[in-house]
Amino acid sequence: MLIGAHVSTAGGLWKAVERGTERECRAIQIFNQSPRTWRASTYSQEEVNRFRQAMQGSEIEAVLIHAVYLVNCASAEPEIRQRSLSCLTHSLRAGSQIGARGVVLHPGSAKTGEVSEAILRAGETIAQALADTEGCELHLENTAGAGGTLGRSFEELRDLIDAAGGGDRIGVCLDSCHLFASGCDIREAAKMDSVLAHAESTIGAGRIRSLHLNDSATPLGSNRDRHANIGEGELGERGCAAFLSAAPFAELPCVLETPGASGKGPELAEVQLAAALRERGLRQRRQAERRRASAQPPP
Ligand SMILES: [Zn+2]
Ligand SMILES: [Zn+2]
Repeated sequence: MLIGAHVSTAGGLWKAVERGTERECRAIQIFNQSPRTWRASTYSQEEVNRFRQAMQGSEIEAVLIHAVYLVNCASAEPEIRQRSLSCLTHSLRAGSQIGARGVVLHPGSAKTGEVSEAILRAGETIAQALADTEGCELHLENTAGAGGTLGRSFEELRDLIDAAGGGDRIGVCLDSCHLFASGCDIREAAKMDSVLAHAESTIGAGRIRSLHLNDSATPLGSNRDRHANIGEGELGERGCAAFLSAAPFAELPCVLETPGASGKGPELAEVQLAAALRERGLRQRRQAERRRASAQPPP
C-alpha cells in the first residue's frame, strides 16, 4: 500500500513532492486549482518538468488530484453542469500532464431533487469529460450521505458508474470516514471484509483504485462528513487498522485528509501512525487466521 497525505502545492507544483517527502509519503494528493474557485490554472511545461523530476528523485509512487468542491456534475442547472464539465475536463488533462493515478471526484449532489435523475445527469457530465480527454482515470469518491450527495452506497456508485458508461477509466476512491458515516461498520477486520465483499458484488472487482484514510468525528450512520485525526475518532486505531489491512487494498494509494495535530493537515507522525496501523492490522489478521486454523479438527 502506498500510504501518504493530501499536501499543499503552495509555492509551486513541485513543492507538493517536497511536502510529501517530508511526511514520508508514498502517495500524495493535491488540488490542481484553488478548491473553492472555478478559475482553472494551467501548468506550464516547465512546471510539469520540474514536478516530474522531483517525483523521480522521491519515494512517492502515486499522485492523485482532487477535483474542486464547487463541481457538481449532477446539478439541475445547466450552467453549473457546464462549469463542472469544464473544470473536470481540465483536472483530467492536468492529471495526464503530471502522470496522476486519477482525479478524485465527489460525484455530485441531487440537492432537494430526485436522486435517480441526478445520477443520470452526473453520468452524462462524467461521460462527456471522459470522452473529451484521454488517459487519466476518474475515481468517484463515496460520500457520507449528507443532504442529496450522490455516492452514499455501493448501489449508488454502481448506478453512477453505469450512467457514466461503465468504462475502464472509471474507478472508485473509498474514504474510510465517509464509509463509516454512511452506515458501514468497518471497525473490525471481519466486518470490513464483508463490506468489501458487498462492494465487489455490487460495483465489481477492481473498481476501487484509491483510498482516503480519515477517522470519523461523527458516529456510525450519522451521514455527516467530519474528519478526525487517525485513531482519535469513532473508528479509532482498531478501525483504521481493519480498513488499512484489507487484502484488496494492498497495492492502492491511500492518502490522509485529516485536520492534523496543528489543524494544517496531516503531518509526518500521522502518516507514520497509518503505516504502523496497517502492519498491526495485517498482524492481527494473521493471528486470527492461525486461531481459526488451529480450531479446525485434525484431518
Ligand atoms: Zn475523501
Ligand atoms: Zn470527507
